[in-house]
Amino acid sequence: MLTLEKKIVGLKIDVDTERGTRIGALNLMRLLDDRGIKATFLFSMGPDNTGRAIRRIFRPGFFQKVSRTSVVKVYGIRTLLNGLFGNGPHIGRRHGSIMRSIAASGHEVGVHCYDHNAWQDKLATWSEARTREEVNHAVDAFTHVFGHKPRTMGAAGWQANKSSLSAYDEHSLSYASDTRGTQAFYPTVKQRIFQTLQIPTTLPTLDELIGRPEYPMDQLISTYQIHIAKQSLNILTIHAELEGMAFMDWFKEFLDDSLAKGITFVPVETIANDLLKNKEKIPRLPLLQGEVDGRSGTLAVHGF
Ligand SMILES: [Zn+2]
Repeated sequence: MLTLEKKIVGLKIDVDTERGTRIGALNLMRLLDDRGIKATFLFSMGPDNTGRAIRRIFRPGFFQKVSRTSVVKVYGIRTLLNGLFGNGPHIGRRHGSIMRSIAASGHEVGVHCYDHNAWQDKLATWSEARTREEVNHAVDAFTHVFGHKPRTMGAAGWQANKSSLSAYDEHSLSYASDTRGTQAFYPTVKQRIFQTLQIPTTLPTLDELIGRPEYPMDQLISTYQIHIAKQSLNILTIHAELEGMAFMDWFKEFLDDSLAKGITFVPVETIANDLLKNKEKIPRLPLLQGEVDGRSGTLAVHGF
């Protein structure tokens, strides 16, 4: 049996869409609350234009390979149309009360993005000013909903660069989680050192594994637990639209099995606060654009 006692997993929930906010995030809140687990919910604060790009949020071929799960089943037809004709519904304006109820349950809340579609597709081409404007829109929408500024952000599609890190630094976040990697770090780009602690997602996401012959569905729980047993920093990103909806039964089983084996799930801020007690021990590592197994295109990663 795996030794998972004392293993701590930071649980980060990316909420990408209007439907994911309305249904998936609330489903996850109830599931976690029933088990006394607190997690980090990161919300998409602006327009839901995912209809323009829903297939690019997850691994290419994900929907085709998972025969039981069509894109329509996961997202619903309305989500697929969002943003195709003008801007889609503004999630922050429409669902502020849902977001506040999740915070009131004791979960950590933060910003995922303003417009998921725009950030994921265009960040690499934006000027520093345009990037700052997008971050400011997200911060304003968050502040409008919660009455205080966000203390954390975790970028859509793990897209980050020197412009986004620079915009983050202006908001004095306690930490951010935009990258993939193995350890927490202060990002550097060329000579510049950024001030916001960066805590990467260190575990694969469900859509990066599901439907691949080397990762049979009935062994995914142990696949995750083997990773968790081996790694010293465990940050798991799940999606309101997947683990909170179409794959909720799987996620419930994963949680219960992991809890029974001794894993403790915490919001990412718990891990951040712990690391920040010994700030001087946190390495400075270069922010790079790299590839992650099971995902297309480049993502923000750390070098060594
Ligand atoms: Zn996302």
